[in-house]
Amino acid sequence: MKRAYLLYILALSFSFISCKTQNNTTVKTEVKPTINYSFNADNLLENIKELSSDKYEGRRTGTEGAKKAKNYIVNQFKTLEVKPIKGSYIQPFAFGNYQAENVLGLIKGTENNRKHIVLSAHYDHEGVKNGQIYNGADDDASGVSALFAFAEYFAKNPPKHNVILAAFDGEELGLKGAYHFVNDNVIQQRNIVLNLNMDMISRSEKKELFAVGTRYYPQLKPTIENFKDIGSVDLVIGHEGLTKGDDWTYSSDHAAFHKANIPFIYFGVADHEDYHKPTDDFINIDQQFYKDAVQTIITVFNQFDSLDL
Ligand SMILES: [Zn+2]
Repeated sequence: MKRAYLLYILALSFSFISCKTQNNTTVKTEVKPTINYSFNADNLLENIKELSSDKYEGRRTGTEGAKKAKNYIVNQFKTLEVKPIKGSYIQPFAFGNYQAENVLGLIKGTENNRKHIVLSAHYDHEGVKNGQIYNGADDDASGVSALFAFAEYFAKNPPKHNVILAAFDGEELGLKGAYHFVNDNVIQQRNIVLNLNMDMISRSEKKELFAVGTRYYPQLKPTIENFKDIGSVDLVIGHEGLTKGDDWTYSSDHAAFHKANIPFIYFGVADHEDYHKPTDDFINIDQQFYKDAVQTIITVFNQFDSLDL
């Protein structure tokens, strides 16, 4: 019954479209320049869809779902030929009653020095509350899947700087994974020259992707200011605390780097209606915006990588 009804509606709408086209020969379609993504856009969407599926039970730190997510990330790193650090992808740590694990991978830079750029996103989210799964598609399966897009990109375009791909744990519980990474010195703090943190990059009603951090690290400002926007994404400097109550400097994992005086740029979108709700699902992301946002961040990375940081 339901299906028949749907077909009827479809038939109606198709005939409507064909009528309109016949009577209106000068229909114009908007031609947008096609974007050559420097990563596999289908894989990007597959990865965010997978990590934000119910199977991962909201990826709360210390749960079975988080373990599954960790394993998925490790397998992606292996497949994409991202190297472990000192023999392991896993950096375990504990806080309160939680056993947590960062997942870290290394891409060797062509300049063969000790400088590292850390690309980060957090894989933990809110878990299950009152029987509802908080899948955290935008927050932050979007950032983690972007790490894999970066790995694909680096396989063909090796960076000058060494790059750490960091999927942090415990972000939702106080940026714990990022603080552990920065203070554990698995990579010496003095050898980390930049952190680019991605947390919520897959949807924006205004098509705005914010870049936060140039207020404190003005050497990074010209790159962002002069950036030529890609596709649907408007890259905007903002939320740096210049207006009261509007400061994202400490809102995600980049705060740990900032507190250690390591320059950072945080990429993220404005809060939306599904933020920290069980409806932050794959179906609610903006696929076009997301792909363009990842291309934007890869391009920004490239420009920073070419500088003497
Ligand atoms: Zn987040």
